[in-house]
Amino acid sequence: MGIFNMDSPKEINSVFWDSKKKSWEYKIVQVDEYHGWTECQYCNKPMSHNIKTEGEFKVVYVKCGCTRTD
Ligand SMILES: [Zn+2]
Repeated sequence: MGIFNMDSPKEINSVFWDSKKKSWEYKIVQVDEYHGWTECQYCNKPMSHNIKTEGEFKVVYVKCGCTRTD
């Protein structure tokens, strides 16, 4: 787990698998507190972020460098 050198993000464009649509969907998640991230072992880019949002601790996933297809 690492910590951004830059300011903590205020919002994250998280990605999740929509099992009904069978596709990846994006959702902007507001960040109340930022608690670091986990990096992809292949591209070393952030893969998930540990945050507090709407009073709950959550792990939100983002597309790292090597899963970007577009
Ligand atoms: Zn990656």
